[in-house]
Amino acid sequence: MASVNENFLKLSAGYLFPEIGRRVREYKTRNPKADVISMGIGDVTQPLPPACIEAMHAAVDQMSRPETFRGYGPEQGYDFLIDAILENDYKSRGVQLHKDEIFVSDGAKCDTANIQEVFGADNVVAVTDPVYPVYIDTNVMAGRTGPAGKNGQFEQVVYMPCTAENNFVPDLPKQHVDLIYLCYPNNPTGAVAAKEQLKKWVDYALQNKSVILFDAAYEAYITDAEIPHSIYEIEGAKDVAIEFRSFSKTAGFTGLRCAFTVVPKQLKAYAKSSRAVDVNPLWLRRHTTKFNGASYISQAAAAAVYSSAGKKQCRQIIDIYLNNASRIRSSLHSLGYTVFGGVNAPYLWVKTPNNLSSWQFFDLLLNQANVVCTPGSGFGPAGEGFVRLTAFAKPENCLQALYRFAKIRL
Ligand SMILES: *Cc1c(COP(=O)(O)O)cnc(C)c1O
Repeated sequence: MASVNENFLKLSAGYLFPEIGRRVREYKTRNPKADVISMGIGDVTQPLPPACIEAMHAAVDQMSRPETFRGYGPEQGYDFLIDAILENDYKSRGVQLHKDEIFVSDGAKCDTANIQEVFGADNVVAVTDPVYPVYIDTNVMAGRTGPAGKNGQFEQVVYMPCTAENNFVPDLPKQHVDLIYLCYPNNPTGAVAAKEQLKKWVDYALQNKSVILFDAAYEAYITDAEIPHSIYEIEGAKDVAIEFRSFSKTAGFTGLRCAFTVVPKQLKAYAKSSRAVDVNPLWLRRHTTKFNGASYISQAAAAAVYSSAGKKQCRQIIDIYLNNASRIRSSLHSLGYTVFGGVNAPYLWVKTPNNLSSWQFFDLLLNQANVVCTPGSGFGPAGEGFVRLTAFAKPENCLQALYRFAKIRL
């Protein structure tokens, strides 16, 4: 008799986005003429930068000729891409990394999901509340948690509330934690972490022999010169932090797929005997065993992100989203809403008016404005009383949505 991994039974079946979909479909069935605008989904809408398209056309042509055809590439990624990453994402910010510290993949979702495999089952996991659900659900699947309680939080996990009071950057935990997931610029709150705030976490990890899993998928949205793009801009971070990057939100690769993870060679975790073990070879072993490399065509497109034309084009696209964010922020502000984020991030974290619950405001917005948001409570209890708006809509849809916001009767 085949048994199941019972840890999966602890997960409440993917509730948030299916429930949003259900309510939107139901509304559209009742109101077939309604023009519903989504400010809910974290997906880009602008097409790929032309430099990436050109690079892909060239790569496709190479694949068509015997002399230039490429089969399996290195599992860790092609040198042409890794060199561009080292030069443009790190060296330019004063961070020296080696080629074999970069692992190219087909997504930061899988990387942030898979990284826990190289760590022991008895690690205490700390996540922020609200949180990107991937970090927590994958630890549930791996058996690092107890069952979920009434508020949806899992036993044995340390949840660190992110609130307006702490600027949505968590305070250090009171109890010892081993694996710490941080994401800045943050999804869903749109908050950023300053150098001093990250320094506190790096120092905590150094003192406690913990590892920080730093998701920097939105670093390209940082416009403020004081905000670090990489955790390695913090002294000591290479000893304690793994960083995740993605071309999804930087260059519109959500449908194309390419990302990378940085595992510094000096980063250690510990065997039961307390012996320090290098984590980089463990991740290399895992990556090369379970993954056969991102497609050559995707990697060719990713390398084009770093060409001078590619950089300019990515900047233009990101500026479209940041302009949306800025418009949403100022419009809602002038309508009397309390709004966080949306400055160095494509997300806005909006306090619901009149103490409505996240879902009550979701329904009100859908019914009165035909605008879809994401209820903050879906990301954790600290998200109750907030909704997330994304700035990824086409500018004309964004303007239309704001116009409708102004007509809401509360
Ligand atoms: C979108 C997103 C990613 C990127 O995921 P990909 O698999 O690379 O598309 C990673 N982390 C967070 C928090 C995200 O919102």
